Amino acid sequence: MALVVQKYGGTSVGDTERIANVARRVATYHARGDKVVVVVSAMSGQTDSLIKLAHQITNRPDEREMDVLMSTGEQVTIALLSITLRHMGIPAVSFTGAQIKVVTDSSHMKARISDVETTRVMKALDEGKVVVVAGFQGVTAEGDITTLGRGGSDTSAVAVAAALKADVCEIYTDVDGVYTTDPNLCDKARKLKKISYDEMLELASVGAKVLQIRSVEFAKKYKVPVLVRSSFNYNEGTWVVEEDNSMEQVIVAGIAYDRNESKVSVKGVPDRPGIAARVFGALAEENIVVDVIVQDIGEGGKASITFTVPKTDLPKALDVIKPCAKELGAEEVASDTNIAKVSVVGVGMRSHAGVASKMFNALAAEGVNILMIATSEIKVSCVIEAKYTELAVRVLHDAFGLDKE
Ligand code: ASP
Ligand code: MG
Repeated sequence: MALVVQKYGGTSVGDTERIANVARRVATYHARGDKVVVVVSAMSGQTDSLIKLAHQITNRPDEREMDVLMSTGEQVTIALLSITLRHMGIPAVSFTGAQIKVVTDSSHMKARISDVETTRVMKALDEGKVVVVAGFQGVTAEGDITTLGRGGSDTSAVAVAAALKADVCEIYTDVDGVYTTDPNLCDKARKLKKISYDEMLELASVGAKVLQIRSVEFAKKYKVPVLVRSSFNYNEGTWVVEEDNSMEQVIVAGIAYDRNESKVSVKGVPDRPGIAARVFGALAEENIVVDVIVQDIGEGGKASITFTVPKTDLPKALDVIKPCAKELGAEEVASDTNIAKVSVVGVGMRSHAGVASKMFNALAAEGVNILMIATSEIKVSCVIEAKYTELAVRVLHDAFGLDKE
Protein backbone atom coordinates (compact mmCIF):
# COMPACT_ATOMS: atom_id res chain seq x y z
CA MET A 1 0.00 0.00 0.00
CA ALA A 2 1.45 3.31 -1.03
CA LEU A 3 0.51 6.92 -1.44
CA VAL A 4 0.86 7.60 -5.14
CA VAL A 5 0.48 10.86 -6.99
CA GLN A 6 -0.10 10.39 -10.71
CA LYS A 7 -0.10 13.19 -13.23
CA TYR A 8 -1.61 12.81 -16.69
CA GLY A 9 -0.73 15.26 -19.43
CA GLY A 10 -2.96 16.69 -22.13
CA THR A 11 -2.61 13.90 -24.68
CA SER A 12 -3.36 11.27 -22.01
CA VAL A 13 -6.73 12.94 -21.33
CA GLY A 14 -7.26 14.12 -24.92
CA ASP A 15 -10.74 12.61 -25.30
CA THR A 16 -13.24 10.64 -23.22
CA GLU A 17 -11.87 7.31 -24.43
CA ARG A 18 -8.40 8.22 -23.24
CA ILE A 19 -9.86 9.47 -19.98
CA ALA A 20 -11.45 6.03 -19.58
CA ASN A 21 -7.99 4.51 -20.10
CA VAL A 22 -6.59 6.73 -17.37
CA ALA A 23 -9.47 5.73 -15.10
CA ARG A 24 -8.71 2.04 -15.68
CA ARG A 25 -5.08 2.52 -14.69
CA VAL A 26 -6.08 4.51 -11.63
CA ALA A 27 -8.54 1.72 -10.78
CA THR A 28 -5.77 -0.91 -10.63
CA TYR A 29 -3.84 1.15 -8.08
CA HIS A 30 -6.98 1.84 -6.07
CA ALA A 31 -7.92 -1.84 -6.13
CA ARG A 32 -4.60 -2.92 -4.66
CA GLY A 33 -5.12 -0.53 -1.76
CA ASP A 34 -2.98 2.45 -2.79
CA LYS A 35 -4.07 5.94 -1.92
CA VAL A 36 -4.19 7.71 -5.27
CA VAL A 37 -4.16 11.40 -6.05
CA VAL A 38 -4.50 12.17 -9.76
CA VAL A 39 -3.39 15.51 -11.14
CA VAL A 40 -4.54 16.28 -14.66
CA SER A 41 -3.78 18.76 -17.42
CA ALA A 42 -6.32 20.19 -19.79
CA MET A 43 -7.21 18.13 -22.87
CA SER A 44 -4.42 18.50 -25.44
CA GLY A 45 -4.68 21.69 -27.43
CA GLN A 46 -7.24 23.15 -25.04
CA THR A 47 -4.94 25.65 -23.33
CA ASP A 48 -3.68 26.79 -26.74
CA SER A 49 -7.25 27.29 -27.96
CA LEU A 50 -8.13 29.38 -24.92
CA ILE A 51 -5.06 31.55 -25.44
CA LYS A 52 -5.94 31.94 -29.11
CA LEU A 53 -9.42 33.18 -28.21
CA ALA A 54 -8.00 35.93 -26.05
CA HIS A 55 -5.50 36.83 -28.76
CA GLN A 56 -8.34 37.31 -31.22
CA ILE A 57 -9.20 40.30 -29.06
CA THR A 58 -5.76 41.71 -28.25
CA ASN A 59 -2.16 40.55 -28.36
CA ARG A 60 -1.56 41.79 -24.82
CA PRO A 61 -4.49 40.41 -22.80
CA ASP A 62 -4.58 41.17 -19.11
CA GLU A 63 -2.69 38.49 -17.23
CA ARG A 64 -5.10 38.13 -14.32
CA GLU A 65 -7.94 37.52 -16.75
CA MET A 66 -5.81 35.09 -18.75
CA ASP A 67 -5.49 32.98 -15.61
CA VAL A 68 -9.25 32.98 -15.13
CA LEU A 69 -9.55 31.85 -18.74
CA MET A 70 -6.74 29.29 -18.92
CA SER A 71 -7.61 27.56 -15.66
CA THR A 72 -10.93 26.41 -17.14
CA GLY A 73 -9.19 23.75 -19.24
CA GLU A 74 -8.19 21.72 -16.20
CA GLN A 75 -11.57 22.16 -14.55
CA VAL A 76 -13.09 20.27 -17.48
CA THR A 77 -10.74 17.29 -17.18
CA ILE A 78 -10.99 16.86 -13.39
CA ALA A 79 -14.77 16.70 -13.73
CA LEU A 80 -14.66 14.26 -16.65
CA LEU A 81 -12.20 11.97 -14.92
CA SER A 82 -14.18 11.95 -11.67
CA ILE A 83 -17.39 11.27 -13.56
CA THR A 84 -15.67 8.37 -15.35
CA LEU A 85 -14.28 6.89 -12.14
CA ARG A 86 -17.63 7.15 -10.37
CA HIS A 87 -19.35 5.61 -13.36
CA MET A 88 -16.96 2.67 -12.95
CA GLY A 89 -18.01 2.38 -9.32
CA ILE A 90 -14.87 3.95 -7.88
CA PRO A 91 -15.40 6.69 -5.29
CA ALA A 92 -13.74 9.83 -6.60
CA VAL A 93 -13.83 13.53 -5.92
CA SER A 94 -12.44 16.42 -7.93
CA PHE A 95 -10.88 19.61 -6.60
CA THR A 96 -9.70 22.80 -8.27
CA GLY A 97 -6.47 24.38 -7.10
CA ALA A 98 -8.45 26.91 -5.10
CA GLN A 99 -10.56 24.24 -3.42
CA ILE A 100 -7.60 22.41 -1.93
CA LYS A 101 -5.65 25.66 -1.57
CA VAL A 102 -2.63 25.40 -3.77
CA VAL A 103 -1.45 28.80 -2.57
CA THR A 104 0.75 30.83 -4.93
CA ASP A 105 2.17 34.32 -5.21
CA SER A 106 0.29 36.76 -7.42
CA SER A 107 2.53 36.78 -10.48
CA HIS A 108 -0.10 35.79 -12.97
CA MET A 109 0.67 33.25 -15.71
CA LYS A 110 3.85 32.17 -13.94
CA ALA A 111 2.86 31.98 -10.32
CA ARG A 112 4.99 30.12 -7.82
CA ILE A 113 3.52 27.76 -5.27
CA SER A 114 4.19 28.69 -1.65
CA ASP A 115 2.02 26.15 0.10
CA VAL A 116 -0.30 23.22 -0.54
CA GLU A 117 -2.89 22.43 2.09
CA THR A 118 -3.42 18.74 2.64
CA THR A 119 -6.38 18.56 5.03
CA ARG A 120 -9.10 18.15 2.46
CA VAL A 121 -7.13 15.76 0.28
CA MET A 122 -6.10 13.59 3.23
CA LYS A 123 -9.67 13.41 4.48
CA ALA A 124 -10.94 12.24 1.10
CA LEU A 125 -8.11 9.69 0.80
CA ASP A 126 -8.90 8.36 4.27
CA GLU A 127 -12.49 7.90 3.13
CA GLY A 128 -11.16 5.62 0.39
CA LYS A 129 -11.67 8.09 -2.43
CA VAL A 130 -9.51 8.75 -5.44
CA VAL A 131 -8.71 12.46 -5.36
CA VAL A 132 -8.58 14.26 -8.71
CA VAL A 133 -6.82 17.62 -8.65
CA ALA A 134 -6.63 20.29 -11.35
CA GLY A 135 -3.03 20.87 -12.40
CA PHE A 136 -1.54 24.15 -13.59
CA GLN A 137 -3.60 26.32 -11.23
CA GLY A 138 -3.43 27.85 -7.82
CA VAL A 139 -4.93 30.64 -5.82
CA THR A 140 -3.44 33.74 -4.22
CA ALA A 141 -3.87 34.58 -0.54
CA GLU A 142 -6.54 37.06 -1.73
CA GLY A 143 -8.41 34.32 -3.58
CA ASP A 144 -7.48 35.16 -7.17
CA ILE A 145 -6.96 32.31 -9.63
CA THR A 146 -3.39 31.91 -10.88
CA THR A 147 -1.63 29.58 -13.30
CA LEU A 148 1.89 28.23 -13.03
CA GLY A 149 3.24 28.75 -16.55
CA ARG A 150 2.91 26.41 -19.53
CA GLY A 151 3.40 22.80 -18.58
CA GLY A 152 2.66 23.72 -14.98
CA SER A 153 0.67 20.59 -14.16
CA ASP A 154 3.94 18.76 -13.57
CA THR A 155 4.75 21.24 -10.86
CA SER A 156 1.28 20.90 -9.37
CA ALA A 157 1.78 17.13 -9.18
CA VAL A 158 5.22 17.27 -7.56
CA ALA A 159 4.11 19.98 -5.13
CA VAL A 160 1.10 17.90 -4.11
CA ALA A 161 3.35 14.82 -3.79
CA ALA A 162 5.80 16.78 -1.63
CA ALA A 163 3.05 18.15 0.60
CA LEU A 164 1.50 14.71 1.05
CA LYS A 165 4.92 13.05 1.43
CA ALA A 166 3.89 10.64 -1.30
CA ASP A 167 5.98 7.55 -2.00
CA VAL A 168 6.23 8.37 -5.68
CA CYS A 169 5.09 10.96 -8.18
CA GLU A 170 4.36 9.28 -11.50
CA ILE A 171 4.27 11.61 -14.46
CA TYR A 172 2.30 10.04 -17.32
CA THR A 173 2.94 11.51 -20.71
CA ASP A 174 2.97 10.57 -24.38
CA VAL A 175 6.61 9.45 -24.37
CA ASP A 176 8.17 6.45 -22.65
CA GLY A 177 10.46 8.45 -20.41
CA VAL A 178 13.42 10.79 -20.60
CA TYR A 179 15.56 10.30 -23.69
CA THR A 180 19.16 11.21 -24.45
CA THR A 181 17.64 13.74 -26.85
CA ASP A 182 14.35 14.40 -28.63
CA PRO A 183 13.52 11.19 -30.56
CA ASN A 184 11.59 13.32 -33.05
CA LEU A 185 14.82 14.98 -34.15
CA CYS A 186 17.22 12.11 -33.74
CA ASP A 187 16.23 8.49 -34.30
CA LYS A 188 19.24 7.26 -32.33
CA ALA A 189 17.85 8.80 -29.12
CA ARG A 190 17.82 6.30 -26.27
CA LYS A 191 15.62 6.08 -23.20
CA LEU A 192 17.44 6.62 -19.90
CA LYS A 193 16.74 4.33 -16.93
CA LYS A 194 17.44 7.06 -14.43
CA ILE A 195 18.70 10.59 -14.32
CA SER A 196 19.65 12.90 -11.46
CA TYR A 197 17.56 15.88 -10.42
CA ASP A 198 20.37 18.22 -11.44
CA GLU A 199 20.67 16.77 -14.93
CA MET A 200 16.91 16.83 -15.37
CA LEU A 201 16.88 20.40 -14.14
CA GLU A 202 19.42 21.45 -16.72
CA LEU A 203 17.73 19.47 -19.49
CA ALA A 204 14.37 21.01 -18.62
CA SER A 205 15.89 24.47 -18.44
CA VAL A 206 17.37 24.08 -21.91
CA GLY A 207 14.24 22.89 -23.60
CA ALA A 208 13.67 19.20 -22.92
CA LYS A 209 9.91 19.31 -22.70
CA VAL A 210 9.28 16.19 -20.62
CA LEU A 211 9.00 18.00 -17.30
CA GLN A 212 8.42 21.60 -16.35
CA ILE A 213 11.54 22.97 -14.67
CA ARG A 214 9.77 24.12 -11.51
CA SER A 215 8.55 20.58 -10.96
CA VAL A 216 12.12 19.30 -10.92
CA GLU A 217 13.21 22.03 -8.51
CA PHE A 218 10.40 20.96 -6.22
CA ALA A 219 11.27 17.30 -6.56
CA LYS A 220 14.91 18.00 -5.75
CA LYS A 221 14.13 20.22 -2.77
CA TYR A 222 11.71 17.76 -1.20
CA LYS A 223 13.43 14.61 -2.52
CA VAL A 224 10.31 13.38 -4.29
CA PRO A 225 11.11 10.32 -6.43
CA VAL A 226 9.64 11.02 -9.85
CA LEU A 227 8.88 8.36 -12.45
CA VAL A 228 8.27 9.61 -15.99
CA ARG A 229 6.37 7.07 -18.09
CA SER A 230 3.86 6.64 -20.86
CA SER A 231 0.12 6.46 -20.29
CA PHE A 232 -0.21 4.40 -23.47
CA ASN A 233 1.79 1.36 -22.32
CA TYR A 234 3.15 -0.29 -19.18
CA ASN A 235 6.87 0.21 -19.90
CA GLU A 236 9.01 1.17 -16.94
CA GLY A 237 9.88 4.75 -17.77
CA THR A 238 12.69 6.89 -16.37
CA TRP A 239 13.38 7.60 -12.70
CA VAL A 240 14.34 11.13 -11.76
CA VAL A 241 16.12 10.74 -8.45
CA GLU A 242 19.04 11.80 -6.29
CA GLU A 243 22.47 11.53 -7.87
CA ASP A 244 24.45 8.32 -7.30
CA ASN A 245 28.00 7.24 -8.18
CA SER A 246 27.07 5.50 -11.42
CA MET A 247 25.83 8.78 -12.87
CA GLU A 248 29.28 10.39 -12.52
CA GLN A 249 30.71 7.82 -14.94
CA VAL A 250 28.63 9.17 -17.78
CA ILE A 251 30.10 12.42 -19.09
CA VAL A 252 27.08 13.60 -21.06
CA ALA A 253 23.62 12.31 -20.19
CA GLY A 254 21.64 14.19 -22.78
CA ILE A 255 21.32 16.89 -25.40
CA ALA A 256 18.53 19.40 -25.44
CA TYR A 257 17.49 22.27 -27.63
CA ASP A 258 15.27 25.25 -27.15
CA ARG A 259 13.63 27.20 -29.93
CA ASN A 260 11.60 29.39 -27.62
CA GLU A 261 14.21 32.01 -26.91
CA SER A 262 14.88 35.21 -28.76
CA LYS A 263 17.96 37.40 -28.77
CA VAL A 264 18.07 41.07 -27.87
CA SER A 265 21.10 43.30 -28.40
CA VAL A 266 21.58 46.71 -26.88
CA LYS A 267 24.35 48.16 -29.01
CA GLY A 268 26.68 51.07 -28.45
CA VAL A 269 26.01 51.75 -24.80
CA PRO A 270 28.53 53.85 -22.87
CA ASP A 271 31.09 51.56 -21.24
CA ARG A 272 30.69 52.52 -17.59
CA PRO A 273 29.60 50.92 -14.32
CA GLY A 274 25.89 50.43 -13.72
CA ILE A 275 24.71 49.86 -17.30
CA ALA A 276 24.11 46.12 -16.99
CA ALA A 277 22.52 46.66 -13.60
CA ARG A 278 20.11 49.16 -15.14
CA VAL A 279 19.18 46.99 -18.14
CA PHE A 280 18.66 43.75 -16.24
CA GLY A 281 17.08 45.52 -13.31
CA ALA A 282 14.40 46.85 -15.64
CA LEU A 283 13.76 43.35 -17.04
CA ALA A 284 13.66 41.79 -13.59
CA GLU A 285 11.10 44.33 -12.48
CA GLU A 286 8.84 43.06 -15.25
CA ASN A 287 9.50 39.49 -14.14
CA ILE A 288 11.22 38.62 -17.42
CA VAL A 289 13.65 35.74 -17.11
CA VAL A 290 16.92 36.39 -18.92
CA ASP A 291 18.97 33.39 -19.95
CA VAL A 292 22.27 33.69 -21.84
CA ILE A 293 24.07 37.02 -21.45
CA VAL A 294 27.06 38.24 -23.43
CA GLN A 295 28.72 41.60 -23.02
CA ASP A 296 31.56 42.39 -25.35
CA ILE A 297 34.70 44.26 -24.38
CA GLY A 298 34.09 47.95 -24.71
CA GLU A 299 35.85 49.76 -27.55
CA GLY A 300 36.00 53.52 -27.97
CA GLY A 301 34.03 53.89 -24.77
CA LYS A 302 31.11 51.88 -26.15
CA ALA A 303 30.01 48.33 -25.46
CA SER A 304 27.08 46.12 -26.37
CA ILE A 305 25.06 43.73 -24.33
CA THR A 306 23.29 40.76 -25.89
CA PHE A 307 20.95 38.44 -24.03
CA THR A 308 18.14 36.00 -24.61
CA VAL A 309 14.58 36.12 -23.28
CA PRO A 310 11.63 33.80 -23.97
CA LYS A 311 9.97 34.62 -27.31
CA THR A 312 6.67 35.14 -25.52
CA ASP A 313 8.28 37.83 -23.37
CA LEU A 314 9.99 39.60 -26.29
CA PRO A 315 7.33 42.31 -26.86
CA LYS A 316 7.32 43.12 -23.16
CA ALA A 317 11.13 43.04 -23.01
CA LEU A 318 11.40 45.48 -25.91
CA ASP A 319 8.84 47.77 -24.28
CA VAL A 320 11.06 47.87 -21.22
CA ILE A 321 14.42 48.01 -22.97
CA LYS A 322 13.78 50.68 -25.60
CA PRO A 323 13.16 53.58 -23.21
CA CYS A 324 15.91 52.31 -20.96
CA ALA A 325 18.40 52.16 -23.88
CA LYS A 326 17.45 55.67 -24.92
CA GLU A 327 17.99 56.97 -21.43
CA LEU A 328 21.43 55.29 -21.30
CA GLY A 329 22.41 56.77 -24.65
CA ALA A 330 22.58 53.43 -26.52
CA GLU A 331 22.86 53.53 -30.32
CA GLU A 332 20.48 50.71 -31.19
CA VAL A 333 18.26 47.92 -29.87
CA ALA A 334 18.01 44.88 -32.16
CA SER A 335 16.18 41.60 -31.74
CA ASP A 336 16.25 38.24 -33.48
CA THR A 337 13.81 35.36 -33.08
CA ASN A 338 15.53 32.98 -35.52
CA ILE A 339 17.78 31.43 -32.92
CA ALA A 340 17.96 28.17 -31.01
CA LYS A 341 19.98 26.99 -28.08
CA VAL A 342 21.54 23.53 -28.03
CA SER A 343 23.00 22.18 -24.82
CA VAL A 344 24.93 19.16 -23.63
CA VAL A 345 24.25 18.14 -20.03
CA GLY A 346 25.84 15.69 -17.61
CA VAL A 347 27.04 15.53 -14.00
CA GLY A 348 30.14 13.68 -15.22
CA MET A 349 31.38 17.00 -16.67
CA ARG A 350 32.43 18.06 -13.21
CA SER A 351 35.26 15.55 -13.30
CA HIS A 352 36.03 15.32 -17.01
CA ALA A 353 37.75 17.99 -19.10
CA GLY A 354 37.22 18.73 -22.78
CA VAL A 355 33.44 18.62 -23.09
CA ALA A 356 33.16 22.18 -24.39
CA SER A 357 35.92 21.78 -26.97
CA LYS A 358 34.41 18.52 -28.21
CA MET A 359 31.10 20.29 -28.62
CA PHE A 360 32.58 23.27 -30.48
CA ASN A 361 34.59 20.96 -32.77
CA ALA A 362 31.53 18.90 -33.64
CA LEU A 363 29.55 22.03 -34.53
CA ALA A 364 32.44 23.57 -36.46
CA ALA A 365 32.88 20.42 -38.54
CA GLU A 366 29.33 20.94 -39.81
CA GLY A 367 29.79 24.66 -40.40
CA VAL A 368 27.42 25.67 -37.63
CA ASN A 369 28.30 29.12 -36.37
CA ILE A 370 28.09 29.71 -32.62
CA LEU A 371 26.46 33.03 -31.71
CA MET A 372 26.64 32.85 -27.93
CA ILE A 373 28.03 30.43 -25.36
CA ALA A 374 27.00 29.77 -21.79
CA THR A 375 28.21 27.19 -19.32
CA SER A 376 27.39 25.85 -15.91
CA GLU A 377 29.05 23.16 -13.85
CA ILE A 378 27.16 20.41 -15.66
CA LYS A 379 26.11 22.07 -18.93
CA VAL A 380 27.45 23.77 -22.04
CA SER A 381 24.99 25.70 -24.20
CA CYS A 382 25.46 27.27 -27.61
CA VAL A 383 23.07 29.70 -29.24
CA ILE A 384 22.98 29.05 -32.99
CA GLU A 385 20.84 29.95 -35.98
CA ALA A 386 17.48 28.17 -35.65
CA LYS A 387 17.78 26.44 -39.03
CA TYR A 388 20.72 24.35 -37.77
CA THR A 389 18.92 22.96 -34.71
CA GLU A 390 18.25 19.46 -35.99
CA LEU A 391 21.70 19.07 -37.51
CA ALA A 392 23.38 20.28 -34.32
CA VAL A 393 21.42 17.88 -32.12
CA ARG A 394 22.27 14.87 -34.29
CA VAL A 395 25.92 15.74 -34.61
CA LEU A 396 26.31 16.21 -30.86
CA HIS A 397 24.42 13.01 -30.09
CA ASP A 398 26.96 11.15 -32.23
CA ALA A 399 29.97 13.08 -30.94
CA PHE A 400 29.22 12.09 -27.36
CA GLY A 401 28.32 8.50 -28.23
CA LEU A 402 24.89 8.77 -26.71
CA ASP A 403 23.41 5.99 -28.83
CA LYS A 404 25.44 3.49 -26.77
CA GLU A 405 24.60 2.41 -23.19
N1 ASP B 1 -2.63 22.86 -19.66
C1 ASP B 1 -1.43 23.58 -19.33
C2 ASP B 1 -0.57 23.78 -20.56
O1 ASP B 1 -0.94 23.35 -21.63
C3 ASP B 1 -0.66 22.94 -18.23
C4 ASP B 1 -0.08 21.58 -18.55
O2 ASP B 1 -0.48 20.93 -19.50
O3 ASP B 1 0.78 21.13 -17.80
O4 ASP B 1 0.45 24.37 -20.48
MG1 MG C 1 3.25 18.80 -20.06
